[in-house]
Amino acid sequence: MNRHLKHPVFKIISEIIKTQNIQAFVIGGFVRDLILKRASNDIDIVVVGSGIDLANRVAGKIDKNVKVTVFKNFGTAMLRYKNYEIEFVGARKESYNRDSRKPVVENGSLEDDQNRRDFTVNALALSLNKETYGNLLDPFNGLDDIKKKIIRTPLNPDITFSDDPLRMIRAVRFAAQLNFNIAKEALSAIKKNKDRIKIVSKERINEELHKIVLSPKPSIGFKLLEETGLLEIVFPELHNLKGVELRNGIKHKDNFYHTLNVVDNIGKKTDNLWLRWAAILHDIGKPTSKRFDEVHGWTFHGHEFVGYKMLPDIFRRLKFPMNEKMKYVQKLILLHMRPIVLSQEDITDSAIRRLLFEAGNDIDDLMLLCDADITSKNPDRVKHFLKNFQVVRIKLKEIEEKDKIRNWQPPISGNEIIQIFNIKPSKIVGAIKDAIKDAILDGLIENNHDDAYQFMIRKGEELGLKPSTRVDKHTNNK
Ligand code: ATP
Ligand code: MG
Repeated sequence: MNRHLKHPVFKIISEIIKTQNIQAFVIGGFVRDLILKRASNDIDIVVVGSGIDLANRVAGKIDKNVKVTVFKNFGTAMLRYKNYEIEFVGARKESYNRDSRKPVVENGSLEDDQNRRDFTVNALALSLNKETYGNLLDPFNGLDDIKKKIIRTPLNPDITFSDDPLRMIRAVRFAAQLNFNIAKEALSAIKKNKDRIKIVSKERINEELHKIVLSPKPSIGFKLLEETGLLEIVFPELHNLKGVELRNGIKHKDNFYHTLNVVDNIGKKTDNLWLRWAAILHDIGKPTSKRFDEVHGWTFHGHEFVGYKMLPDIFRRLKFPMNEKMKYVQKLILLHMRPIVLSQEDITDSAIRRLLFEAGNDIDDLMLLCDADITSKNPDRVKHFLKNFQVVRIKLKEIEEKDKIRNWQPPISGNEIIQIFNIKPSKIVGAIKDAIKDAILDGLIENNHDDAYQFMIRKGEELGLKPSTRVDKHTNNK
């Protein structure tokens, strides 16, 4: 393994610990990823001694200006050097209380430290000590598990997961990221301990959920969350998508597995976390809007609107960001049926303009979501739908070039309306603004100030308003 320890920090650490007569090792994810040839930007160093002290000495040796960030409560220190975040921690032994995932910590040996690690593949250590430099310390056969692609706990999984229940979601996360299987005993232990996930903070769960969503094939993670029973606890709305109902010999598709196909599809096109979440959540309103109709069979009318409405409560409960990210996901959910409807009928310019207006700069993301939403197993149907969306895209491009609706700003402001008709700010101002917007989107007038101005005067007259003299002058001057 020696030759792989290329980063200059390893040599620096090795020299310092020799003079200090202490032991240090590279441990955890970096070693795992080195073996898997995965890119990694974090290095974890475990020292049998003080991590903070070693970090300061390393920084001193690199350059006086290297900043060491100390987390006193955790006894760890971090510095950045040559594109890597390097974290130093003293080897420790941990013991847990039943109602907290925060352990009681005491100083320990390397072995103690490896025992406290979550998975065998994350417990591998490489020696930085002169005599054994580069040697792999692998008390739990982690190397073997990497080869066999298995997530297994170093100690009894029942205790490991009960001690720190976050590890259950981490197991799923690593399975998804690395495309590994969770060992049978570990999987049963997760099923048994699933309810203990409730003692873990939402923020920590979210970190892992986001990593699952960003993994190459998110469905691996979501299937495991479902299979272990964790999904029902942390994300009941997604669990509720699962299932097929049969009535009068008619079945509907399983919306959970459909959703997983959609997120896997979009994962091939984008690493945009919130677009991937939009794929996961696009049909979240289906269980609530499901109806059986004697003529049409199963319908989910308005599920996009129901989903849109459900989102704030879901985001609030999960402690997801209640900001423009949520609005973005909401918008994509709300609009995800529109290109489908468009592609089924003769596409009018005004329908395209309305879609451009409502989607704005997110129109390309919306179209990606729509492509991903095609999950038919029939290649001819897939081809047909994709072709339809290409037609919609061409039309979108044409209209956008002509009418510039994507970043549409009203050509006449509310203030201008107030001044021209010499009226007070009131509902009527909004009504005129809306009428102008609709006229432009419907193609009754062009998207420019002059057309909008003439239209506004006519609209005002209909509403019994007269332009003030001052404004007449303004028009005459033009
Ligand atoms: P990545 O950084 O790619 O997400 P990683 O393996 O480095 O993967 P981190 O969350 O950075 O994961 O944790 C670093 C190491 O610390 C892990 O490899 C593991 O050995 C240990 N570790 C992290 N969280 C836990 C935990 N909850 N229980 C036990 N060990 C943990
Ligand atoms: Mg890491």
